[in-house]
Formats: sequence, structure tokens, C-alpha cells
Amino acid sequence: MNLILLGPPGSGKGTQARELERRHGFVKLSTGDMLRTTVLDSKKIGKQLKEIIDSGALVPDNIMVKMISERIEYPDCKKGFILDGFPRTTAQADALEKMLKKKGMQLDYVIEMKVNSKILIKRISGRYSCAVCGTGYNDDFQKPVTKGVCDNCASREFVRRSDDKLGTFRLRLEAYEEQTAPLLPYYRKRNCLKTVNALNKIENVTAEIEAVIGGA
Ligand code: AMP
Repeated sequence: MNLILLGPPGSGKGTQARELERRHGFVKLSTGDMLRTTVLDSKKIGKQLKEIIDSGALVPDNIMVKMISERIEYPDCKKGFILDGFPRTTAQADALEKMLKKKGMQLDYVIEMKVNSKILIKRISGRYSCAVCGTGYNDDFQKPVTKGVCDNCASREFVRRSDDKLGTFRLRLEAYEEQTAPLLPYYRKRNCLKTVNALNKIENVTAEIEAVIGGA
């Protein structure tokens, strides 16, 4: 099963994608994570990408389309994949539609993670994650059970994203409203859009998504 999780930054796409990966073995493809890895791995292109990411703007469509087109051909995607952070523009959605057709693949559902932006700002300003396994936490409402120790892998190292600063976050929200939100009517028209209330508790959002995908 191939899914897209569509929602603004901080709506919980990464958390839900990780849970779906754990439950069903679908591969989580987060373009944000892929870009951050490239930033760390490649000095030359990494510097340019970091500047774009830290400004809250979007990376050019051609780079993103190539990245996804190559990645979904890996054997681990056979069982299914979850796109987290892609597509983000109508041009990317058009390119995705074409590439899936060409590769004989299909998109099963686009799941809208619906939230409100005031709550998002609170979520984002307190978020951090485990540097080893990526499990997400929040200063206010998602602390590790033992202070300073990851619940999942017991690591004591945590990281905060450089683009989660308030000013950058507002720009990322604007980029979402202007360039990504038009994908909601785009996919509604194609009859594959389903909406979940992403302000619910994490486990309730997961249950809503499970209801959509029918316990695949
Ligand atoms: P994310 O982790 O999904 O919030 O992405 C972090 C940043 O990576 C975004 O603010 C963009 O600068 C860049 N990015 C991630 N995915 C895309 C995409 N599909 N198209 C363009 N830029 C992207």
C-alpha cells in the first residue's frame, strides 16, 4: 500500500509514518530527513540545501522529484511506502502521478493531517528528537518517561532542528499554505483524499489512519 501523509509542518506526519512503518512494514520516505542526511553527507550541495531549509523555503521541484523517483524503486518499497513531506507543490504532485504510472505503481490514499496553526506553533517550539532512533518528543506534552533517556532506544542524545525556530517555522507554515494546501482539492478531485483529526492524541490519530487503510 502506498500512502501520502499531507499536512503542515508539525502536524505529526513523521510520528504517524514511523508508527505505520512499525505496524505494517511500509517504508517511511521523509524528504525532510533525506535532505538533512544529504546536508550532512555532502559539503558542496549540502551547504546550498541547508541555506534553503534554514530559510523555510522549498527546495526546487526537480531535485525532490529525482530523489523520490529513485528511492521508490528500491526493493524495500515493494510492500508499500509512506510519503512524508512529498509532494509539496502541484508540480511535484503531477510528476509523482506520472512517475507512478510509468513504474506501474499506484497511490492508495492521501491522508490529510488536519490541525490548527496556533496549536502547531506550540508543538513545534517545544519539539526535539532522539539523535539515534528519531523518536519525537516535546518539552510540554511528550516527555521521555525517564528524563534525558530515549524511551525507544535508551540513548541520551537528543537534537533540535535548526528550522524549528519560530521565525523560520512561520515561513514554513506560509510555504505550506501557499504551495502545499492546494494539493488538498487536487487529491479530493482524484477521490483518494481522507482526513484525520491530527490534534487528537497520537494513538487516536493512528487509529483513525488504521480505519482509513482498513488494517492493511
Ligand atoms: P520537513 O522535515 O518535511 O518539514 O522538511 C524540512 C525542509 O526540507 C522544508 O522546509 C523544505 O525546505 C525542505 N523540503 C522537504 N521536503 C520537500 C519537498 N517535497 N519539496 C521542497 N522542499 C522540501
